[in-house]
Amino acid sequence: MAQIQWFPGHMAKAKREISEKIKVIDIVIELVDARAPYSSKNPMINDIIKNKPRLIVLTKKDMADENLTKQWVQYYESLGYQAMSVNLKNFNEYQKIIDKCRHVLKEKMEKELARGLKPRAIRAMVLGIPNVGKSTFINRLANRKATITGNKPGVTKAQQIIRVAKDFELFDTPGVLWPKFEDEHIAKNIAMIGSIKQNILPLDDLFIEAMTYLSQNYSSILKERYQLEIDLEDPDWVLKTFDHIAQLRKIKPLKGETDYDRVIELFFSEINDGSIGRITWEDTSCVKD
Ligand code: GDP
Repeated sequence: MAQIQWFPGHMAKAKREISEKIKVIDIVIELVDARAPYSSKNPMINDIIKNKPRLIVLTKKDMADENLTKQWVQYYESLGYQAMSVNLKNFNEYQKIIDKCRHVLKEKMEKELARGLKPRAIRAMVLGIPNVGKSTFINRLANRKATITGNKPGVTKAQQIIRVAKDFELFDTPGVLWPKFEDEHIAKNIAMIGSIKQNILPLDDLFIEAMTYLSQNYSSILKERYQLEIDLEDPDWVLKTFDHIAQLRKIKPLKGETDYDRVIELFFSEINDGSIGRITWEDTSCVKD
């Protein structure tokens, strides 16, 4: 899991480096996590990439709520962006992304040819906050197994261009941007999707937040996964939930008490690997700006 400590200096540097690189590319592929498409966006992305053509790709659609993913794609399209959702573990999806980039730039490239310029490949760059799938995307297209260290803020120095197709090139390191962690809703959601360390926030609070949200929006998942029905009106629901899961999963008591830490650990590991089911942590009504 990608973990970066962001300081104001890092942010300024990342912004500067990316703004510089962007000058020589045709299209930005902005990756966001389909499980929290708003919270996993960089707050300054418009300012950083300005009017550069952009494709918004919602990754991890296999882990997200299908209906909400559709809602989010439509939402971004309604704002005039090109958007799509993908599962980056599915190799067939990569062609769709490249095709969409070609589509976005079709007119520009045709105009260049009409002006007598030499045919050339489209040049793309991947941007996004930690853990949204940037390395997975680039490594797959570069056909390499080793993970590249794209986790440092900004853009790693020795950058190379990978030719992915005759008419498509990609920077081999992604632009790493920061999320908007000051906002409580966003901090919580990016913790849920593993973009910041879950334990940066008090884990028991995060557990309660998650359970409240799930009982309000995904009660069927709680029932299926944990045979659990939560009554939020019951003042003891939190303790009962802990006890229930501990019993169900045969978590050994600690000094005669439920081992709360183990329950939390188990719960978040199922959230992180997606085994809990398909969950999206926000719908389009959360957008503030
Ligand atoms: P980066 O920090 O943005 O470079 O993110 P990584 O490429 O390292 O991906 C973070 C984690 O998410 C890795 O464990 C990937 O295997 C996983 N991942 C990336 N994209 C997808 C996806 O579309 N679906 C699923 N299920 N996992 C994904």
